[in-house]
Amino acid sequence: MTYQNYSLKQLQQIDAAHHLHPFTDHKELREAGSRIITHANGPFIYDADGTEILDGMAGLWCVNVGYGRDELAEAAYAQMKELPYYNSFFKCSTPTPVLLSKKLAELAPKGVAQVFYGSSGSEANDTALRLVRHFWALEGKPEKNRIISRKMGYHGSTIAGTSLGGMDLMHKQLGGAVPNIVHVMMPYAYELALPGESDHDFGLRAAKAVEDAILEAGADKVAAFIGEPVMGAGGVKIPPMSYWPEVQCICRKYDVLLMLDEVITGYGRTGEWFAAQTFGIEPDTITTAKALTSGYQPLSALLVGDRIAATLVEKGGEFYHGYTYSGHPVACAVALKNLEIMEREGLVDRVKNDTGPYFAQALQERIAGHDLVGEVRSIGLMGAIEIVKDKVTKERFLPAGSAAVTVRDHAIAQGLMLRATGDTMILSPPLIWTRETIDMACARIAKALDLAQ
Ligand code: PLP
Repeated sequence: MTYQNYSLKQLQQIDAAHHLHPFTDHKELREAGSRIITHANGPFIYDADGTEILDGMAGLWCVNVGYGRDELAEAAYAQMKELPYYNSFFKCSTPTPVLLSKKLAELAPKGVAQVFYGSSGSEANDTALRLVRHFWALEGKPEKNRIISRKMGYHGSTIAGTSLGGMDLMHKQLGGAVPNIVHVMMPYAYELALPGESDHDFGLRAAKAVEDAILEAGADKVAAFIGEPVMGAGGVKIPPMSYWPEVQCICRKYDVLLMLDEVITGYGRTGEWFAAQTFGIEPDTITTAKALTSGYQPLSALLVGDRIAATLVEKGGEFYHGYTYSGHPVACAVALKNLEIMEREGLVDRVKNDTGPYFAQALQERIAGHDLVGEVRSIGLMGAIEIVKDKVTKERFLPAGSAAVTVRDHAIAQGLMLRATGDTMILSPPLIWTRETIDMACARIAKALDLAQ
């Protein structure tokens, strides 16, 4: 590595001059300079000044087994030496995507046993969109092509991903979304429940919005409903337990496919391998990426249910879709090793039975009471803190998001990396966090809140 030959200032200058960052205001970035992260170990990341920061976001919701895993580096190295690349087009395959597909079929919910690979969550959602429309066309119903999604949903940043997502600011810059995608209300009780409405009833009402959209279009025009089991980038919005089973019931009633985007929730985040299992539903597709390799390699896997796969196979004909790196042998080797580590260390069980409940309790007991906090919520190791001006009226600070950014900056200065989205602070740490790490994080959050007050 040659970066050591450069000073931090030089790296920042070169970065500002030549590097366009994702989701970044470059004018602001040029003024402030990037925080340059140079190395990491276990739950900690280190910046170019050598400052140690506890990573409360697992990178970008992905480094589930934590940093510095030699086994993953060794798996990549061994695979690169043996076969760095070959494609799975034109009736070829390589061993690691074959074995990974078998493993994913074992871990996935019942009836979801086929896998289509890409390199990112966005690509996997493009695949999912094309696949469900192709499915209905093969079934002789090409007009059944509308997709129902949710406001504030995030499904990636490609044109299809942005169109599926319900982020207004992203749509504004799109210059024309993929047609036939409609967005319904999100299941976010803190802001949308009516006075006196129970969580259960709110969940049913939010699900009813899906049924209304199906009826408005006509069931013969609706291909699928897509949603994140827990909305991630939109603010860790956890639906009431009544929501998903009801959505599934509605989808079955009108023969609408159920697509889950588990790019964040997949691979243990909610205390099961997939959040479909946490919420007790059986989707037709599951989009996964990120923690599949714990972020050590770019890889996504669209898990495809038996019904779609059977039509694809039985009706035959080529599905004109795929990526050069679909089933990349090195990325799949790393994924296999990553899943092996997760199983060996019992990380998913640990989230379900130990760290997840402890995290929920710690947020409730140590953070929820703070004057700036309107609500805390969590599921598994995924949590949110709502920043408010007034706990009772839920009034927010103006301009929107400003107070959350202040808390975030104080938290980083205290040695905890977390994220602010709108007025919501988000946590999604590596699954290797222990009770002690949770204690450390909560102390830093409490201090950041005090400093922001
Ligand atoms: N879907 C969800 C739920 C996500 O959170 C993300 C990214 O954060 C994506 C899709 C897009 O994944 P990628 O950034 O790998 O394209």
